[in-house]
Amino acid sequence: MGEFELISHYFAAAPCAQGGEGVALGIGDDCALLDLPAGEQLAISTDTLVAGVHFPAICDPLLLGQRALAVAVSDLAAMGATPIGFTLALTLPDVGRDWLAGFADGLGRMAGRCAISLIGGDTTRGPLSITLTVFGRVPLGQALRRSGARPGDLLCVGGSLGNAAGALPLVLGEHQAPAHVGEPLLEHYWAPLPQLRLGELLRGRATAALDISDGLLADCGHIAKASGVALAVDLAQVPVSDALVALLGREAALRAALTGGDDYILAFTAPAAAVSSLTETVHVIGRVLEGQGVTLRDQQGRDITPDQRGYQHFRETP
Ligand code: ADP
Ligand code: MG
Repeated sequence: MGEFELISHYFAAAPCAQGGEGVALGIGDDCALLDLPAGEQLAISTDTLVAGVHFPAICDPLLLGQRALAVAVSDLAAMGATPIGFTLALTLPDVGRDWLAGFADGLGRMAGRCAISLIGGDTTRGPLSITLTVFGRVPLGQALRRSGARPGDLLCVGGSLGNAAGALPLVLGEHQAPAHVGEPLLEHYWAPLPQLRLGELLRGRATAALDISDGLLADCGHIAKASGVALAVDLAQVPVSDALVALLGREAALRAALTGGDDYILAFTAPAAAVSSLTETVHVIGRVLEGQGVTLRDQQGRDITPDQRGYQHFRETP
């Protein structure tokens, strides 16, 4: 199968590539064209997933397609943006029809759940790697940035944390768990649903936001730094799922929630009144203070901040 046949069969013909709101021109020309309503800004983000680094080299292509798009769209949710379209730059070692069919199916399913259209891409040969660029729209000046947290705000998250980190040993086949424990965790790993509705609700309410991808404490550090404030996290308030506690026990579940990656849950700061006006379930896990950095507090308010805060590809050598 040649490059053009591959593109047209698996991608251009896919239901998710037939256009949608804001897509003036999709796959087939030198560029796609997007329409942006007056008074809105374009939000853009790119993510690359490399086999053996971001996902196991051998895995179900349908799950991989789902997850790759979810991870990318999560950045739109974190900005309070509404999805429009995405491009797919795919590097493949060889062309396996089953693999491509599964991958395109997974991508299409997640595209449907996020109401986002495939608008273009690039196809090359090489070690398996997937780069997705997502485009969304957000009313002028209302994007949720990392830099607006103010002392006195509450620190909140949009759901339980650590599930994907807990699932990783199951994904890698290093560990087994009964279905009622393993399945909900694996669902978080393979199909994290971007919190798009929450992101849109946070416009005009949150003072800062991001999606947690590298661990709660590490990512809160980004808000603290960008906003020039300190964040204090109350350990007792950090939400963990029953499945994660059943798999790991409470202590290790909390460790996964604080430092494990791949959550794709929103973390945000907002004044208390704005938090109580939200119609989505959120968890208040701490406060914004004057100062800098992120601290973890126990129930007595003592500082119990761990050293290891999250995952980085390139760590500074001590
Ligand atoms: P060009 O050579 O002009 O860059 P290509 O031949 O690479 O164009 O691609 C032809 C069309 O197919 C373009 O519209 C491009 O966006 C789209 N395309 C290529 N690869 C993919 C892919 N993996 N998924 C979706 N669209 C793709
Ligand atoms: Mg090209």
